[in-house]
Amino acid sequence: MFPNQFAYHRPTSVEEAVGLLQADPEAKILAGGHSLMPAMKLRLAAPSALVDLNRIDGLRGVSVNGGVRIGAMTTYRQLIDSAELRQRLPVVGEAAENVGDQQVQSRGTLGGSLAHADPASDFTAVMLALGGEVTAVGTGGQRTISADDLFVDLLTTSLQPDEVITEISIAALSGTIGAAYEKHRHPASGYAVVGVAAMLTLGADGTCQSARIAVTGATSKATRATAAEQALIGQLLEAETIGRAAAAVPQGLELNGDLYASEAYRSHLLTVYGRRVIQRAVERVRG
Ligand SMILES: Cc1cc2nc3c(=O)[nH]c(=O)nc-3n(C[C@H](O)[C@H](O)[C@H](O)COP(=O)(O)OP(=O)(O)OC[C@H]3O[C@@H](n4cnc5c(N)ncnc54)[C@H](O)[C@@H]3O)c2cc1C
Repeated sequence: MFPNQFAYHRPTSVEEAVGLLQADPEAKILAGGHSLMPAMKLRLAAPSALVDLNRIDGLRGVSVNGGVRIGAMTTYRQLIDSAELRQRLPVVGEAAENVGDQQVQSRGTLGGSLAHADPASDFTAVMLALGGEVTAVGTGGQRTISADDLFVDLLTTSLQPDEVITEISIAALSGTIGAAYEKHRHPASGYAVVGVAAMLTLGADGTCQSARIAVTGATSKATRATAAEQALIGQLLEAETIGRAAAAVPQGLELNGDLYASEAYRSHLLTVYGRRVIQRAVERVRG
């Protein structure tokens, strides 16, 4: 299939990109193109113009200095290859290795993934669990949006049409942290049938100080599993507690059912993957 005709712009600054988006409300940002181009070829998207961010300096790269900052145009491959991330927050590279195939990892960007808000995307859940934030620049200036406030619904975010995500940040976390992500891959597409991400911090007394658990693939948008979080906070992280928390992952969620996986099967998978990632996060938190 061929896409509709569109104009093509290659701005060299974020300000120029924002100006182009403001001038044409039907224009769309192009990052790695791995979600937008297939949608255009299927004519599910028909933007009048593409504003390609690839020539803008400074939107790529990872810096770890207490917290973590990742440029919006950083590819999955760059996340996998970052030695700093591997040391400070290995869950990010591991999740990137789970995305699609080598072509997708080489071109797809973290900013594009979060802006697209695919309900089965891996990084929506990972950023929710890590308490990530995006920096967005638009005609109204610059603002920070927490992952909790970013994902509104299926393929819908709280970004304005003229806003460009420039950076993703994860605040410096105090204490000992452990995080993990795993998914049940759809055998054809590789997307998450369900995916669960967890981040735990441990207090000095050995109890769980904070817990953030998020799921993807299971609901219309990536969502926190708050019942599971509550089952962990303040508890010693023993097998029984982990089992109780895993069983609570699907609680209160409106689960999708489709040809591949019914609601009941997704609920079961959430419990299985919930147990695995909580267990792995606990192992990491204990070093
Ligand atoms: C074969 C295949 C398999 C895949 N498998 C997986 C998988 O297993 N897991 C997974 O999570 N994903 C998967 N993907 C999707 C992939 O991760 C996409 O790369 C990602 O969803 C979008 O990133 P992108 O850089 O390609 O964005 P694009 O496709 O260029 O853009 C996506 C959307 O985000 C907007 N956008 C892009 N960048 C910004 C920005 N900086 N600020 C504001 N808006 C922006 C665009 O306007 C567009 O609406 C797969 C894709 C393919 C083609």
